Order: sequence, then C-alpha cells, then structure tokens
Amino acid sequence: MKPAAFDYYSPTSLDEALQLLRDIPGSKVIAGGQSLIPLMNFRLSRPSALVDLNAVDGLDRIQVVGGALRLGALVRHEELHRNPEVRSHLPVLAEAAGHIGHWAIRTRGTLGGSLAHADPAAELPAALTALGGVIELSGPEGQRKIPSEEFFLGYLMTDLRDDEILTAVEIPMQRDASWGFCEFARRPGDFALAGAFVEVRGDATGSVTWFGIAGRPERRAVTFSGDEAERHRMWAETLEMVDVEEEYRRRLASEAAEAAYRQAMGRGRQ
Ligand SMILES: Cc1cc2nc3c(=O)[nH]c(=O)nc-3n(C[C@H](O)[C@H](O)[C@H](O)COP(=O)(O)OP(=O)(O)OC[C@H]3O[C@@H](n4cnc5c(N)ncnc54)[C@H](O)[C@@H]3O)c2cc1C
Repeated sequence: MKPAAFDYYSPTSLDEALQLLRDIPGSKVIAGGQSLIPLMNFRLSRPSALVDLNAVDGLDRIQVVGGALRLGALVRHEELHRNPEVRSHLPVLAEAAGHIGHWAIRTRGTLGGSLAHADPAAELPAALTALGGVIELSGPEGQRKIPSEEFFLGYLMTDLRDDEILTAVEIPMQRDASWGFCEFARRPGDFALAGAFVEVRGDATGSVTWFGIAGRPERRAVTFSGDEAERHRMWAETLEMVDVEEEYRRRLASEAAEAAYRQAMGRGRQ
C-alpha cells in the first residue's frame, strides 16, 4: 500500500522543527521511518506533514556528561550497538541494541524513534527503564526531563505531547552492579516474545525489567537468594505483580530472567 498524501519538511534546527510541529495541525516527526512509514503505508497513521529530524544539527551525539552517558535522539540502533563509549560504559545496552530487527533496520532506526513509538516488545524502552535513564523532551515551553519509568504509559503510549520532540536521554553509568540480558524471539531479528534485563548488586539485591509481556516495560526490585529452583519461585512471584498478556509469555519471561541472571553472575561488575 501507499501512504495518504503528506507534506514534507526538513528543518535544520530544533527551534525550526518545533515551530513546524506547532504551526501545522496533524504534523508528525519522522526520524528513521522504520515504524512510522509502515504505519503510514497501511494508513493506520495519516499525518498531514512529516517534520524530518535527520538534518537537525546535534541530535546524533554521544557524550559522557558527569556520571552519565548522554545519547542524542538520532543515534541509530547500530551505532548504539557498536559505539566504543556505549560498549565500555553500558555494555548491556550495546548488546540489547544488537538484537533490534536486522542490520538494515538498525542502520536507519533511532533511539528517539524507538522510545517515542514505545512498542512493548522493543528492547530500548526496557533497557532505558532498567538502567534508570532520564528522557529529555523539548517543546514550546522549553525542556522537561522525565524518568523512563514514568514516560512509558502503556501499549504505544507515552508522556510525549504532540508538540514535543524527544531530544536526548541520559543514562547513569553503571559502576556497582552486574547486568544480564536475554530475549526470546521466533527468529533472529523478530520482535521479542519476552525478554529481561537483570541487575545484580553486591548485596544480592537488584532488579528485573521485563519486556514483551505487558503493555510497557515492567521493572521490579528483587532480592536474590538460593538455588535455581528458589529463583524460579521468586521470578514467578514477581511476575504475579505484572499483568502478563498470555500464560506462555509468563513462562518465557521467567526463563529469560533466569538466563539474564546467570549472564550477570558470569560477567561480574560493570
Ligand atoms: C522488519 C522490522 C523489524 C523490527 N524489529 C524490531 C525489533 O526487534 N525491536 C525493536 O525495538 N524495534 C524493531 N523495529 C522497529 C525499529 O526499531 C524502529 O526503528 C523504531 O521502533 C522506531 O525508530 P525510528 O527512528 O525508525 O522512528 P520513526 O519510524 O521515524 O518514528 C516512530 C514514531 O516515533 C515518533 N518519533 C520519532 N523520533 C522522534 C523524536 N525524536 N521525538 C518525538 N517523536 C519521535 C514518530 O513521530 C513516530 O510516531 C523493527 C522494524 C521493522 C520494519
């Protein structure tokens, strides 16, 4: 199918992009186009105009700022997967980015696009939630920063307003925990059926963040103790707190968490 007719703008500054969004009713931002264009082709989305972020200066930077890594909204998934700063400071994020779709999708799709789209089975919203990331939004009234856990509201729903642009995220560099990641998908490159990020701290506390099992990433604090059987009981009890869509996803989620936990224990501190 072909999309409905739309106008196209390619602003070169953030102010210009925000002005266009404000001035044109029904306009929408486009970044990598890997989610929006299929929706438009199926006519599930019919924006009156596309405001292309690709020529906006400075949105693709990766910087260390204090104790955090600042990632611009236009950073591509493949860059997240390969960038030496990301690999060194947030290896679990780099690993998860490598599981997004296929190479062609990863070279176009962007961090900001994945977060704004908020597919519950997507890796990056869950990674950001697991890692305690903060999302920076720019709008007509200026900038606001919102913790990832408050940004994702439900299936394809976020706190982003129509006249706002997601400009960057800041993720604290993780120094005192070990991290693991696992996802199950039917084929490599498919969206995950279920996945988990697990954080293990020195005092045996930590967290698990699941994705693909409910309308948004689900993060829960946990305490680790005992053997695998005990951990499986703990995963099951923790999953009771999540409104899981289907029973088989609950089982996959438990297996994903256990595999992620084992990976974290094998890796040591990061
Ligand atoms: C075959 C296929 C397989 C895929 N597999 C996976 C997968 O396994 N895991 C996964 O996570 N994703 C997967 N994707 C989706 C892919 O990751 C997309 O790149 C991502 O979801 C959206 O990023 P984008 O930059 O392409 O956004 P776009 O498609 O350009 O935009 C998506 C939405 O976000 C909005 N938006 C984009 N950028 C901003 C911004 N900076 N500020 C405000 N709003 C913005 C747009 O208006 C639109 O509503 C797949 C896609 C395809 C086609």
